Amino acid sequence: MAIIKDILQTMEYGPSPESNEHVIAWLGQHERGFGHFIDGKFTDPAANDSFEVSSPANGNVLAHVARGTTEDVDRAVAAATRAFKSWSKLAGHERARHLYALARHIQKRERFLAVLESMDNGKPIRESRDIDIPLVARHFYHHAGWAELIESELPGYQPVGVCGQVIPWNFPLLMLAWKIAPALAAGNTVVLKPAEQTPLTALAFAEICREAGLPDGVVNIVTGEGETGAALVGHPGVAKVAFTGSTEVGRIIRRATAGTGKKLSLELGGKSPFIVFEDADLDSAVEGLVDAIWFNQGEVCCAGSRLLVQEGIAEKFYAKLRARMATLRVGDPLDKSTDIGAVVSTEQLERIGALVAKGKQEGAEVFQPSIPMPAKGCFFPPTLMTGVEPASTVAMVEIFGPVLVAMTFRTPDEAVALANNTRYGLAASIWSENINRSLDLAARVKAGVVWINATNLFDAAAGFGGYHESGFGREGGLEGLYEYLVPSHGKPTKGTKAGKPQLNAAPSTTAIAASAEPIDRTAKLYIGGKQARPDSGYSYAVVNPAGKTVGLAGLGNRKDIRNAVEAAAKAGSWGAATGHNRAQILYYIAENLSARAAEFEARLRSLTSASAKDAAVEVATSIRRAFFYAGFADKYDGAVHATKSRHVTLAMNEPFGIMGIVCPDEAPLLGFVSLLMPALAVGNRAVVVPSARYPLAATDFYQLLDTSDVPAGVVSIVTGETASLAKTLAEHDEVAALWDFGSTTDAATIEAASAGNLKPVWTGGSRDWSSSDGQGREFLRRATQVKNIWVPYGE
Ligand code: NDP
Repeated sequence: MAIIKDILQTMEYGPSPESNEHVIAWLGQHERGFGHFIDGKFTDPAANDSFEVSSPANGNVLAHVARGTTEDVDRAVAAATRAFKSWSKLAGHERARHLYALARHIQKRERFLAVLESMDNGKPIRESRDIDIPLVARHFYHHAGWAELIESELPGYQPVGVCGQVIPWNFPLLMLAWKIAPALAAGNTVVLKPAEQTPLTALAFAEICREAGLPDGVVNIVTGEGETGAALVGHPGVAKVAFTGSTEVGRIIRRATAGTGKKLSLELGGKSPFIVFEDADLDSAVEGLVDAIWFNQGEVCCAGSRLLVQEGIAEKFYAKLRARMATLRVGDPLDKSTDIGAVVSTEQLERIGALVAKGKQEGAEVFQPSIPMPAKGCFFPPTLMTGVEPASTVAMVEIFGPVLVAMTFRTPDEAVALANNTRYGLAASIWSENINRSLDLAARVKAGVVWINATNLFDAAAGFGGYHESGFGREGGLEGLYEYLVPSHGKPTKGTKAGKPQLNAAPSTTAIAASAEPIDRTAKLYIGGKQARPDSGYSYAVVNPAGKTVGLAGLGNRKDIRNAVEAAAKAGSWGAATGHNRAQILYYIAENLSARAAEFEARLRSLTSASAKDAAVEVATSIRRAFFYAGFADKYDGAVHATKSRHVTLAMNEPFGIMGIVCPDEAPLLGFVSLLMPALAVGNRAVVVPSARYPLAATDFYQLLDTSDVPAGVVSIVTGETASLAKTLAEHDEVAALWDFGSTTDAATIEAASAGNLKPVWTGGSRDWSSSDGQGREFLRRATQVKNIWVPYGE
């Protein structure tokens, strides 16, 4: 028998397995077979087809689950559609009680759910027990609160409808909670497809819904593979799609939903930096790394998988890290002393192995500690790769396993450059005892979540989600709730009287050689603070509703858009300017517009044949709108979220950077002002495509920009064929967000074209620009992305 003194010396642990009898019994009750959960009941699959679900730790088959077909998805969506009628009408308070009931039932079954999750996914029981499942309950509690408060806190919003939700295998029940809790709180109903590898906790949750008395059809679970997910995403009865998974499938879903009008949120991959400065508490940073990359076997979208360490301490830090790695225990997920459990599947194990081999081939030095490894099952040792080139495959690609790649940097600027040298932008972890520097870096790193001297912190009250190819939309917090709501605008109309397009007058963008017309009648493009001839050398005639040519506008093309984006890229200081500074410039624009109101009125009258009164109203409303957003420039601030841990969690509204804005034909001046001003107010630079039919109200704006001290490149205006210019903006990798209000653009083309860098596209549709629908926080929210920065406090 071991003596305690010896145990303390060797730190040898005996096995400490968690019992799984209750899970085995539960699987037995279900005869180890599950149908879909539709309309409150487990139902047989239409095609009577099923597949095996096994434990990655030992290969044991746990159950058979139904393979969902289009017919199953149809049935589930039909059930959710029926349930939506009453669920969406239920008072928030009633929905809140249902969500509280779910939270309490989950808490009662925490141990059962944790064991089931570890058996199905392979994650250590310590993590499923202490992190995953408590967070699941927390999400339902938190959102029960939102259900209660929505009516008073978010007036003017309504639920979207039936939500189709597709989740991955790395946090099966937690991802379900992140999706279902806000959806239900907001009054939506759902059809959720869990990952084929890990459907069991979702099915256990289905049972909890029944036990807790949730009305039938509010939650439906359809199991299956990628095809089932595709059928759900493509179902015409689904109004909102929420997806978490790989960037590749995220792109497929972006294209599949293009032009359907479905609301979409994507939470995709990452390659998040873990930045260690020489003044960091190195021992804490090592422990942080254990959580960053060996938590959940590194199968974490926001894993700190790229270690960036300041050069002077790199070797010392690697030595500490290697020593710590040698103490990690890999093994049985149900053993309470296991640090690293099983990888989810043999395919994933092979993928990780192949990427590590690739890293070695590319010259990285690979370290794996000599620690006992289980003889069978999907296990991979903790791995550190040093000497990694920033452009190598392992530094760029999401490995999604317990593999850390390390690089060094010298200065904070170099750290930021390396951190942002990725197509992703999900999270970042910054380690330094210098709070000034940490916060400076937090603001400069392009990531949706930043942890200072911490890592992998999650809470229902804080938003989570990425920039760039890590997707768009947030989960958690107020920012996440908006994903499940739509503004209940009045019926959209076709614009103000002044701007109402005369549909008998076809927009004429027939090219005219510029030299053929007197030059003073041609409105040029406006790029980089200067008027610019279109690259094509052509203009087109702008014809008013009476058929009279009232001027010529430049016929912009791809090259002009590229030039405008290039000019915008050089004007980055606009985003860094204070709101106060931006406000002054916006006020200046408003004042200058006011001073030249008569000219703009005359322009609108000649352009659209509007009456004098209607033209005056449109100009006056535009002036008010410009003042409105000038007023907001230093007021659209963020929040400090009340997260569970001892952190000040700052939710900062950040500009996207470069935005594309495509303006409507209706209200040619007011539409332009209503879209440009909010984008500028929060610090974006804008490449604007004005109405092709009535571009001259926008081109007159050049002079205002020139005389209002707007820095060069902050606003560019490219006139021409709206549809093709909008597509170019959608395809451009440096355009970070796109608002498409074009009257002749095709949402399907634009949204599909945006799948390249996965920029959020707001296809606004027509609205009454003169009313409150044309102005407000909705525009500011759409012009920003929320970055959550977790700052610790206390010793
Ligand atoms: P996927 O993105 O393929 O899977 C995520 C979910 O999407 C699963 O439920 C999957 O179903 C479903 N799905 C697959 N294809 C479609 C489709 N065309 N339409 C709708 N739904 C679909 O991830 P994988 O499981 O294949 O993992 C591959 C890699 O993705 C990993 O190695 C990792 O790098 C990354 N990944 C990233 C995650 C993240 O959170 N960032 C999470 C998971 C994976 P099914 O399970 O049946 O295939």
